[in-house]
Amino acid sequence: MALQDIRPDAMRCTRCSYCKWIPFDLVKSWRFSKGCPSVDFNNFHSYSGGGRLVTALSLMDGRSEVNDRVVDIAFKCQLCGNCDVACKVCRYDMWVLDSLHEFRFWLAEQDQVPAAYRPMIENLRQKHNLGGRPQADRAKWAEGLDLKDIAKGKAEVLFHAGCRYSYNPRLQHVARTAAQVLTKAGVDFAVSAEEHCCGGKAYDMGYKKDFQAAAEGNLKAWAAAGVKTVVTPCATCYHAFKRLYPEVGSEVEVLHTVELVDRLIRDGKLKLVKPVPMKVTYHDPCHLGRQGEPYVPWDGEEKKIYGQAVVYDPPRPRYIGAYGVYDPPREVLAAIPGLELVEMERNREAAWCCGAGGGVREAYPEFSAWTAGERVEEAKATGADAIATACPGCEQNFIDAVAADGTKMKVFDVVELVAQAL
Ligand code: SF4
Ligand code: SF4
Repeated sequence: MALQDIRPDAMRCTRCSYCKWIPFDLVKSWRFSKGCPSVDFNNFHSYSGGGRLVTALSLMDGRSEVNDRVVDIAFKCQLCGNCDVACKVCRYDMWVLDSLHEFRFWLAEQDQVPAAYRPMIENLRQKHNLGGRPQADRAKWAEGLDLKDIAKGKAEVLFHAGCRYSYNPRLQHVARTAAQVLTKAGVDFAVSAEEHCCGGKAYDMGYKKDFQAAAEGNLKAWAAAGVKTVVTPCATCYHAFKRLYPEVGSEVEVLHTVELVDRLIRDGKLKLVKPVPMKVTYHDPCHLGRQGEPYVPWDGEEKKIYGQAVVYDPPRPRYIGAYGVYDPPREVLAAIPGLELVEMERNREAAWCCGAGGGVREAYPEFSAWTAGERVEEAKATGADAIATACPGCEQNFIDAVAADGTKMKVFDVVELVAQAL
């Protein structure tokens, strides 16, 4: 795709504003009916999915020029995908989210990005992670666990911890707990001290070529080690491996930890016996839920009927967010004795974003924190004692939002609650 390829969708956008809300048939109250953090925070149409299409069209047609405001519009968005789902469900079969990505690719090629991104992408190029941390520290989270390393032999199942679980001292215990749970269930897996970033965040930041380089590097390392299945506790890595890597030629099976743990409980290999008396609400990470639908290859063309109606031949896959990874984490939580699972109003494909995605936490911390605070308010409205999730970005943002709010709500990864019940 190129920027010009989004022209048909940009032309078709009627500015109806459905994309600012969750799909209307899923609305339960006015308070939690909004779906787009960006337009809600910035309170101007250009900051919605449809508004960004119109902005890109104006640039394509030479009616405006790239400036700091355009960069702000393009990047002050979590790429959460609500607009994409809402437009498809309520309005047209348009690929709004792909258009937002394309807009960013075009701007990044001209180095028109938030200043915070430049050192991050240099870090990725030189150190294989956006934080610029040394490769020697990559597997420190696994010290003392006696796990196999694919550098020293072949392995069919690879546990890919991801950059945040590998390097963030506040989160490392989650990767450690996940590995311990898998070990206890008898899963034969390996890790890699030479693990590199999945590249998913670079893709969201607009650096498509850097994403491709990361994907090709990882796929080469996996092929050399005979890896057939990759398991990850990170929703961003999951989305990259499951949805983006097939376009670079990947055929490996991809599982999020919650999917594998769900399978292990069903197979009787994990027995949850200890009560965890807690009321918990589950937050669907955007990359695992709405955007966690399996990749469907498509190689067709756009046609016009009577010079007007746009059709795709053969029909394009229709990602409406409904087939993401929603049941496995809920089944796992429901299997924990004593744990009561309660739903927030916006859940599954209508979930409100945690605020961390799309490079927003790094470039626009105030907006990121506000978005997380909104989700914490929604969690509090359920009466839950804790928010459980399955993504380090969500966890990090919620931990900060809960601390800022002064509420007593706890934040867990699903696998931590599983470990408590073993
Ligand atoms: S819902 Fe679709 S058609 Fe309506 S404003 Fe949003 S992007 Fe445009
Ligand atoms: S991806 Fe999310 S934050 Fe960005 S425009 Fe769409 S709904 Fe709004």
